[in-house]
Amino acid sequence: MKIVVTGGAGFIGSAVVRHLLLQTQDQIVNLDKLTYAGNLESLADIADTPRYHFIQADICDRQTLDQILAEHKPDAIMHLAAESHVDRSIDGPAAFIETNIVGTYTLLEAARHYWKTLDAASQASFRFHHISTDEVYGDLEGTDDLFTEDTPYSPSSPYSASKASSDHLVRAWQRTYGLPILVTNCSNNYGPRHFPEKLIPHMIINALHGKPLPVYGNGQQIRDWLYVDDHARALHQVLLKGEPGETYNIGGHNEMRNLQVVETICDLLDKLAPERRPEALGSYRELISFVTDRPGHDVRYAIDASKIEQELGWRPQETFETGIEKTVRWYLENPTWWQRVLDGSYQLERLGA
Ligand code: NAD
Repeated sequence: MKIVVTGGAGFIGSAVVRHLLLQTQDQIVNLDKLTYAGNLESLADIADTPRYHFIQADICDRQTLDQILAEHKPDAIMHLAAESHVDRSIDGPAAFIETNIVGTYTLLEAARHYWKTLDAASQASFRFHHISTDEVYGDLEGTDDLFTEDTPYSPSSPYSASKASSDHLVRAWQRTYGLPILVTNCSNNYGPRHFPEKLIPHMIINALHGKPLPVYGNGQQIRDWLYVDDHARALHQVLLKGEPGETYNIGGHNEMRNLQVVETICDLLDKLAPERRPEALGSYRELISFVTDRPGHDVRYAIDASKIEQELGWRPQETFETGIEKTVRWYLENPTWWQRVLDGSYQLERLGA
């Protein structure tokens, strides 16, 4: 297959590109604008693969999208490009509306016009796979409730509202125009190459610098954590075996309170990097500090992943215990990757500075 992956220089996108290159013979075109979240160093190990091609482009730029699709003639588009950080969406929602809504609309239109040029067999096998989040469902009330594919949308933040909007657009392009789409809604991902502003890498890096570990509110918010490579495998399964027009929820069966997550990281660092701990401390846990909660902060997300498990045979391979240890070890063993993000040098090189 030839697959265009949008957002392939991001956290999940780079895991998807790596998975496809290592596990298949597919040709991959990575289409990414390289915003602050795009990092080509996340793909350094596979960038020389002849089946891999990178194009710096914006999903809001219709003319460029038309050219890329006409030239590369993909069998599928996996759409991950997005603005993805909830806190940034609260401070400045405009970029989220632009990329997540207008960008998805523009990509859908480019895909639809390209798709119409294909012969009947290629039209039938073409897939537009939209990668979305469980945050579109909003907050879960009861402790036993789970998000299913039929849970009504109730997004809380500008980020999740923009993703919800893009999900509706993608489904409408199937209903109205017949474009063969797939939608996946996944829970919180974690793993290597996660941008340092997100909870888990932020805590690991702060702890290694002996800085406070800021936990929002009382830290009792519950998230369902999935190791990023499990997500990449799930997306590949959905692309290959998913029924066009269907939605699949993807989750890790790993519901954890944010405070538990931070404590687990501290315990792992106590085990793996005791020499980096400030001398005055008996445990990294002593760095935990509680800060004012995020506005509109959802309390609990949890996914019912039984549809993808039963229909497509996917299951996560990592538990939270195995995945978080791999993640902490990766940040300990790859300081150059995150130090170059923190000091901005990962961006300077591509700007030719
Ligand atoms: P990320 O922020 O790490 O990466 C986003 C990528 O998209 C970056 O490489 C960026 O340069 C690129 N991009 C942004 N705007 C663009 C534009 N206008 N044109 C082209 N490229 C652009 O995000 P992520 O965490 O890897 O998430 C990827 C997708 O998965 C997103 O759609 C997100 O909503 C979804 N998702 C994320 C999670 C999670 O926990 N991170 C969970 C479920 C779903």
